[in-house]
Amino acid sequence: MTSAFLSHLDNVLAEIDAAGLRKSERIITTPQDGHFTIRDAHGGRREMINMCSNNYLGLANDPQIIAAARQALGDFGFGMASVRFICGTQSLHRQLEERIAGWLGRDDAILFAAAFDANGGVFEPLMGPEDAIVSDALNHASIIDGIRLAKARRYRFANSDMTELEDQLKKARGDGARFVLIVTDGVFSMDGYTAKLQEICHLAERYDALVMVDDAHAHGHLGARGGGTPALTGVGNRVQIVTGTLGKTLGGGMGGFIAGPQPIIDLLRQRARPYLFSNALAPALAAGSLKAIDIAETADDRRAHLGELVGRFRSGMTAAGFELLPGETPIVPIMLNDARRAQGMAAALDRRGVYVAGFFYPVVPQGQARIRVQLSAALSEKDVDTALGAFAEAGREIGVR
Ligand SMILES: *Cc1c(COP(=O)(O)O)cnc(C)c1O
Repeated sequence: MTSAFLSHLDNVLAEIDAAGLRKSERIITTPQDGHFTIRDAHGGRREMINMCSNNYLGLANDPQIIAAARQALGDFGFGMASVRFICGTQSLHRQLEERIAGWLGRDDAILFAAAFDANGGVFEPLMGPEDAIVSDALNHASIIDGIRLAKARRYRFANSDMTELEDQLKKARGDGARFVLIVTDGVFSMDGYTAKLQEICHLAERYDALVMVDDAHAHGHLGARGGGTPALTGVGNRVQIVTGTLGKTLGGGMGGFIAGPQPIIDLLRQRARPYLFSNALAPALAAGSLKAIDIAETADDRRAHLGELVGRFRSGMTAAGFELLPGETPIVPIMLNDARRAQGMAAALDRRGVYVAGFFYPVVPQGQARIRVQLSAALSEKDVDTALGAFAEAGREIGVR
């Protein structure tokens, strides 16, 4: 039995290899930053320019954040060894929740071990079988999974297609839904553009629906004070529920949150399963994240630098003849379409000291393989120019232009 099962798995893995879809992990031996060192296959070390982290403001290795986390290790210990409601809530946890809520202009916030858990736990307690969830087809996997766990009726619209969204809202209303929730990513992370929140909120109001936005790829670096896509697009609290992560711009540690109206947060504290049945955030993570929010909120200088790098990279790549998806976020997809070409390109860049990742099925649709570059305020203009030179050379080597 066991050997039949394991050889079945070996066959599945062989299929993944044969299709050129195997994801391999390179080993990094220094902190997450604009540059880091990797260990190559022969045990050597090489310094790389890092062009693919979610470290948008360059806070992952910030000395003030490290100091705050160290202080918390001393003051609050290493681990909580409890869920929140038994004996896992320290003053730090409430301080962080209140800080997030204040920063985003919300009544309250609730922490999770990850944004994946926040999305996994948010729908089931809030939306019952009489209710409808209307979801963008390109939403993050954690939203898709979270919706699967809810008993609500499910409606889906093509990515950012407002005509389809309206059709689905009509359908949900026609089906007699009690409450309707529209859910979207704030930034579509494989493509790098933002949700049409003005139009979404307008339709939500017309059809009496709530709006939830997952701003994992926006909090901290997009919008005034890093307030994310509701701040960027001016819709503010016309979006009622927001998901965020502490694992990207905000220090890149780990943890997730939901922020919104008090009754929503209160009910999630009673009923959200990943909150009730999973460990409280480690104190050092909570303290480091608090410091990260302090820094991000006032980091207009970092946001401006990041914006300059994005413009520099986009115009350089376009001039070099690469096919980019349009957008205004630090995510820049370079379309190669074929998975093997994307992997070949990533390898050719790796040999030139530029660390990027190829993305292909099942992370993006078949035939839409790409290199996704993410700019970071940890990079300099010189780094971007070096990367542009490497892309031009690698493109010639692989024959993509
Ligand atoms: C990264 C991401 C998540 C998951 O965040 P974690 O805190 O790492 O679990 C959820 N939603 C979106 C849109 C993301 O980009």
